[in-house]
Amino acid sequence: MRRFFNFITADLAIDLGTAYTLIYMKGKGVVLNEPSIVAYDRNTRKIVAIGNEAKEMLGRTHRDIRTIRPMKDGVIADFEIAEGMLREFIKKIHANWLPSRRIVICVPSGVTEVEKRTVRDSAEHAGAKEVYLIAEPMAAAIGVGIEVDAPVGNMIIDIGGGTTDIAVIALSGIVNEESIRIAGDELNNCIINFFKKNYNMLIGERTAEQIKCGIGSVMPLKEELTIQVKGRDLVNGIPKITIANSAEIREAINEPIQNIMEAIKLTLERTPPEIAADILDRGIMLTGGGALLRGLDERIRLETNLPVFVAEDPLTAVVRGTGKVLENLEKYSKVLLRNKRL
Ligand code: ADP
Ligand code: MG
Repeated sequence: MRRFFNFITADLAIDLGTAYTLIYMKGKGVVLNEPSIVAYDRNTRKIVAIGNEAKEMLGRTHRDIRTIRPMKDGVIADFEIAEGMLREFIKKIHANWLPSRRIVICVPSGVTEVEKRTVRDSAEHAGAKEVYLIAEPMAAAIGVGIEVDAPVGNMIIDIGGGTTDIAVIALSGIVNEESIRIAGDELNNCIINFFKKNYNMLIGERTAEQIKCGIGSVMPLKEELTIQVKGRDLVNGIPKITIANSAEIREAINEPIQNIMEAIKLTLERTPPEIAADILDRGIMLTGGGALLRGLDERIRLETNLPVFVAEDPLTAVVRGTGKVLENLEKYSKVLLRNKRL
């Protein structure tokens, strides 16, 4: 009986990402990993599908149903829908009726007090009794096993869907950081525009993402890759197929990649010298889905002359770190973000 009660006070750690939401349950590990997408009825604003199911509907809905990504621009773009999505995800893991739930949830490093409050309120409305916030790059660092409380500097770059967060961490705090709204989504947009301009062809967001993940790269490849692309001809409106290669896609995404490189260099320039020396020894750690882009580590190495590592399983680094914080709240109390009362 006692075990049963221990089980039912399910504490959760949540990575509410712009592309994916991941939930870690205390003592169990990652129990949910689905796209942060909601399909809802335009008239009633009632949610009809979330996650994978809603992703299937993306770009295929009719007049009455709208599909959105409520976290798209970094924090919460649509408060009501985001809260509904969180509540539905928690329901989905059968934890909705569980009492005294603690939730540790992460937020992008550059968020304002109001945005923090919004995230906290959403978690409370979704049923949490105690809510703790942590900065995403801090969670990512803990997730990849960095001793964040040590008196040495570490640089983490998390490239997600909506934002790229670059942070330098030491002594359980963020020494300096840069967050830009250029990340995976922007690469997809560039690919969509490329097909418009060069092939007179309209492709969907999902197709653009498949192209990026399939053949996307930021350094010349030993053997360039090709992919079959389906879309609609912009001139005659008829569906058509073409073949694209990795060299042209690399060119198509070059601008946002350069923006990310500039942000990295800017953060390095602003880093105090002692910590810069630490980064020279320890290198840069890449997390988030963008870390999987072919050759990104090599490109950053080339442009900064620093050692660069891709985290193991970069897509789950943040939720694993947030989970560790949940499991050891005492130990990690210093990394939690405080909310000023508004
Ligand atoms: P968020 O934290 O914002 O939810 P994630 O860290 O989950 O973002 O990363 C999602 C982003 O990573 C998406 O833009 C997705 O297209 C991109 N991504 C996932 N896998 C790959 C891959 N193999 N190559 C390039 N980009 C990828
Ligand atoms: Mg993320």
